[in-house]
Amino acid sequence: PALRDVLADLRAAGRPSLSFEISPPRDEDAARLLWDSLRRVEALEPAFVSVTYGAGGSTRDRTVRVAGEVAATTTVPPVAHLTCVSASRAEVRQVVGELVDAGVRSVLALRGDPPGGPGSPWQQHPDGLGTALELVEMLRGMGDLTVGVAAFPNGHPESADADADARVLALKARAGASFAVTQLFFEAARWTELVDRAAGHGCDMPVLPGLMSITSLRQVERFERLSGAPVPAALVARLEDAHRTGGDEAVRRAGVEHTVGLGGELLAAGAPGLHLYTLNRSRAALEVADALGLGAAVPAAS
Ligand code: FAD
Repeated sequence: PALRDVLADLRAAGRPSLSFEISPPRDEDAARLLWDSLRRVEALEPAFVSVTYGAGGSTRDRTVRVAGEVAATTTVPPVAHLTCVSASRAEVRQVVGELVDAGVRSVLALRGDPPGGPGSPWQQHPDGLGTALELVEMLRGMGDLTVGVAAFPNGHPESADADADARVLALKARAGASFAVTQLFFEAARWTELVDRAAGHGCDMPVLPGLMSITSLRQVERFERLSGAPVPAALVARLEDAHRTGGDEAVRRAGVEHTVGLGGELLAAGAPGLHLYTLNRSRAALEVADALGLGAAVPAAS
């Protein structure tokens, strides 16, 4: 079944979806780690696994290959991320053709960060697309694909204000997107505000919160860069406390506990499911899914 039907069925049954994000591995060792993680998450029968597209399209071939392997060798539908950076319209069409040939029927349509990196001015390829919205429109004319898009609970760094993010999200839904996945964030209210604003613009597309646990103090700065907001002081204090009393493992546990708390609040607030970033490691994501009772029940190991 098409992913949009899977999501609609879960919605109708009142069951939240569970999904995971992975990235194409760089080498053999990384590939072993990824496939070990994939086999573990597959047992939970997630609604989908999404495969990232490297900055500037740098993993183009590997993204197509890994998404195709997920389609061919697992029971989980893959969603391939796709960006417009440094690519002509013809090149984007070519990648979509390769994905379809590889058995991939769902795409997360993204603009991508500027070629100079996040924060530098956006430069459109002379024959390329300017926004994710244009990509959604292009994909609509390319066969029966289920299209997802990005959403930003803390605001996209280039957006004028929170309403602009909600308006763009609603435009993407109107153009044919059937679900959205959010950037990382730390407070449930940011998701609720975005979804309420988008609803004010006529958008009722499911917006899956994208969550990742901070598993070491060194990651705090990176999470701030990705989420576009400071990690809340109370969470940093909790992680530092954990480190003082229990070292690295206690930090990891505190990070996972925070995600479980946030995920629980989001589901209680009506989130249609949770999308867990894995960095190709399954442990923290599986602990979160398990604590929240998401996914198919896995028989206990004997
Ligand atoms: P857009 O929707 O085009 O938005 C970009 C900016 O333009 C925003 O400020 C928006 O408000 C504004 N805008 C867009 N359309 C309009 C309009 N019609 N009118 C006015 N303003 C408009 N990057 C990668 O390179 N590879 C990945 O695999 C990847 N995966 C991601 C997964 C998720 C879940 C998320 C949230 C992000 C991901 N990114 C990835 C990062 C993403 O490409 C960047 O955040 C990028 O800067 C914005 O992409 P977008 O699709 O939201 O762009």
